[in-house]
Amino acid sequence: MPVSFAADVKNELCRKKMRSACCQKAECYGMLLMGRTFQESGISLTTESSAAAQRIAQMTAELTAAILSTRTVLRRASHPASVVSVDDERDRARILDFFGHTGREVTLRLNRANLENECCPASFLRGAFLTCGTVVNPTKDYRLEFVVPRMHLSRDLTALLGELPVAVQPGVSQRKGAYVVYIKGADRVSDLLTLMGAPKAAMEVIQMKMLREMRNQVNRQTNFETANLGKTASAAARQIQALQRLLDMGLGLQALPENLRELARLRYENPELSLRELGEKLTPPLSRSGVNHRLQRVTELAEKLCRRAE
Ligand SMILES: [Zn+2]
Repeated sequence: MPVSFAADVKNELCRKKMRSACCQKAECYGMLLMGRTFQESGISLTTESSAAAQRIAQMTAELTAAILSTRTVLRRASHPASVVSVDDERDRARILDFFGHTGREVTLRLNRANLENECCPASFLRGAFLTCGTVVNPTKDYRLEFVVPRMHLSRDLTALLGELPVAVQPGVSQRKGAYVVYIKGADRVSDLLTLMGAPKAAMEVIQMKMLREMRNQVNRQTNFETANLGKTASAAARQIQALQRLLDMGLGLQALPENLRELARLRYENPELSLRELGEKLTPPLSRSGVNHRLQRVTELAEKLCRRAE
């Protein structure tokens, strides 16, 4: 089974080394808060990334000495997922206390006290993404999402995303009872990936955007050339039509001035030739612009002669 782009991003995020205690706390908080449940009666989250499951278990143990258990379940057409949960009641109480929660909140909100320094929102978002985030493969679209089951948390997350040093312009939509906080556009998705700690994936998004722009430019160029070809063809058609009428009306090419006759005959007999090729057949040869100029005169004169003869 090919590894998805989102799974690649999560693996890259999980390789990030933690440098400061404040950010470790913020990331751990992001992972736990954005999980399925974060309360007295249960703390659990489900992730398809085994690296993320390992990371949260390790971080939580380091920070709070609580033990997390991990079991593998088959979800969505036999994609394996890890369910991470805190089974011991005292462990849950310790974790909730550590992050300044009671575990009995009616509406769960983001406790900003866990984002101590300027560096911490990025780490919190990395944690949140590992638990509830996904990102579309950039060959299809530029879109990154956090699927949040609770409305107030989705609002707090949107507010936090709106305060970042890079403008990612989050939007919110609803899907199957969950709140989807999304970021759209190659530059914004790439900026957020960089901020969260996945510069390699961010680069892939930008490279895909550049490739697509280049391809569009080539297409535009091709369309432009096709249009020009159409113009050339229709000019030739008009010239030949005018000469045909001249012949049909019995006037003949000799009705044209002598210096234009040879070119008129060449054009009439060779509708497929370009101006340059016509010029090369003339004696003496004539430049492309010279041919263009004379053919215009041929057409105008032929049309005028026909009108006069009618
Ligand atoms: Zn920090």
